[in-house]
Amino acid sequence: MHADGSVVDRHARPLGVLRLSLTGRCNLACPYCCPDADEPAGLLSLEAQLAVVQQACALGAHTLRLTGGEPLLSDRLWPLLEAVAAARSRPDSPFHGLQQVTLTTNGALLTSERARRLRALGVDRLTVSLDAVHPDAVARMAGLQGGVSAGERLLGQVLAGVEAARAAGFAPSLGQLKLNSVIQRGLNDDQLIPLAALARDHGVELRLIEYMDVGNRNGWTLDQVVPATDMIERLNAEWPLQAVGRAPHATASRWRYRDGRGVVGVIASITEPFCGDCNRLRITADGQAFTCLFASKGVNLQRWLMPRVDGDGLRDALTALWLRRDDRFSERRAQLGSAAPHAEMAYLGG
Ligand code: SAM
Ligand code: SF4
Repeated sequence: MHADGSVVDRHARPLGVLRLSLTGRCNLACPYCCPDADEPAGLLSLEAQLAVVQQACALGAHTLRLTGGEPLLSDRLWPLLEAVAAARSRPDSPFHGLQQVTLTTNGALLTSERARRLRALGVDRLTVSLDAVHPDAVARMAGLQGGVSAGERLLGQVLAGVEAARAAGFAPSLGQLKLNSVIQRGLNDDQLIPLAALARDHGVELRLIEYMDVGNRNGWTLDQVVPATDMIERLNAEWPLQAVGRAPHATASRWRYRDGRGVVGVIASITEPFCGDCNRLRITADGQAFTCLFASKGVNLQRWLMPRVDGDGLRDALTALWLRRDDRFSERRAQLGSAAPHAEMAYLGG
């Protein structure tokens, strides 16, 4: 623990990013994610959510990423954003150290009104998830019944959402608006080039995510993973690329299009793990803390959050959790195997 209260774990990794899930529910049912139909019991109150953010900031978090399930499904998003924005503006508040507030969404509910509201309430960056361009693949990857017409409808909503976000002031050129795509061999790897073309046309950075063995329901096998190097090779054959690299603590390795049409990233959690400088703490909508995406079990924070918040107890619990943090599952996947139960992705929030 440092004099300023910030913490590092057993591998000298600081706490930098808090990913806070607002809901376990989702309006889509992507088969690689498989969300629960129901909310977990014991959702955190607004006061509890704020306490979690405050204590994470005190321990060094500079970024708050709001996620789900689908965060735009949760009406608890708005009061939280209002309170965070108010606290951030006070120089004496621990929230003042928050440099970025970001949100990850599937984009289906990203109307102009919501995009403007997110911007007005201090969201700095948005990531929109979209796994295909061809409508039948869009529907398949989102777990929608209804084939081409369902896919067309969702694609229309997501693209309208991206444009609404841009119009609301999220500037893609400043990294404030990005697209995320999970690529699964045999299901949507034929969408790689169309997705990159779409992102280039919209001037938005695309991040291609290797399909991960999070959760127990998606039937993950290694042969369904398209390695990041293959994805980059395929893109490079179409539009030559130049390596930019991976920023410290970041998930994406980035490449610049040599024709000047922006940047593309790959998140190679399976083939090139980045556990070595992972600075992310995940807290679920019901107050379970996870220090690794691939953990089986979280630490239950509810006793410091419900029915009333115990700020000191919470700080001590989070400090102890971070100081003993030893996870580096992705680096050790080959030894550990995927047999151990994993928490589900829509519960963890990605
Ligand atoms: N519903 C929102 C969305 O889809 O953006 C936020 C939650 S979602 C769990 C966060 C991110 O995790 C999404 O970009 C999604 O594509 C990604 N994701 C979910 N399951 C995954 C898996 N098995 N492997 C890789 N990425 C996954
Ligand atoms: Fe929902 Fe996001 Fe999971 Fe897809 S990835 S099912 S949009 S939570």
